[in-house]
Amino acid sequence: MNGQQRAWEALVATARRTVTDGLVVGTSGNVSVRVGDTVLVTPSGVPYDRLTPADATGVDLTTGRQVLGGLTPTSELPMHLAVYRATDAGAVVHTHAVHATAVSVLVDELPTVHYMAGALGGPVRVAPYALYGTEELARNTLRALADRTGCLLRNHGTLTYGTTLDEAYDRTAQLEWMCRLWLTASSVPGLKPALLTEEQVAEAGERLRDYGRHR
Ligand code: 13P
Ligand code: ZN
Repeated sequence: MNGQQRAWEALVATARRTVTDGLVVGTSGNVSVRVGDTVLVTPSGVPYDRLTPADATGVDLTTGRQVLGGLTPTSELPMHLAVYRATDAGAVVHTHAVHATAVSVLVDELPTVHYMAGALGGPVRVAPYALYGTEELARNTLRALADRTGCLLRNHGTLTYGTTLDEAYDRTAQLEWMCRLWLTASSVPGLKPALLTEEQVAEAGERLRDYGRHR
């Protein structure tokens, strides 16, 4: 197996996980991973459990032109390419996780109820709504991602990136968990959740850099 095929297998496994972990329903969401100048992406509207090694789908990072496979690339290609072009991302995960999407319609920024916001670079912003699959949504997403590795998309879902598929996926899972936490804490009548300061979140973010690194 060459590097591209290995990356495709890992991408399909990650996409399937978004379904089995309940972060998306059906063919919603999409996943991509960068291998050199090629970006492998999930095809548009194809159930992840049907994807085989022969379905590997890839586009050129610079031109956006399809260089691999016969299935149509994800409709959110503009959003994925925008992230690779503007950041050091190695992988991007987009979901419609329910708690995160609920938060996206309530606030402009996820209140800092937990220090794990530090794992995404700070308080997580909500990108203004734009039609799915558009350059406008890609632009709004990039703006919300400034100095962050994840954001919410209003009336839509989540986007996170990382060096690897596992890192990008884990950030989505943590983001969804934090949104669920805030919704839970803020739904107790008469009580308001205590929030962390930006400094406290930044301090945790610093410490998290070494988290799980063993000598
Ligand atoms: P695709 O099936 O084209 O990837 O679209 C799913 C989605 O989540 C669009 O925002
Ligand atoms: Zn979507």
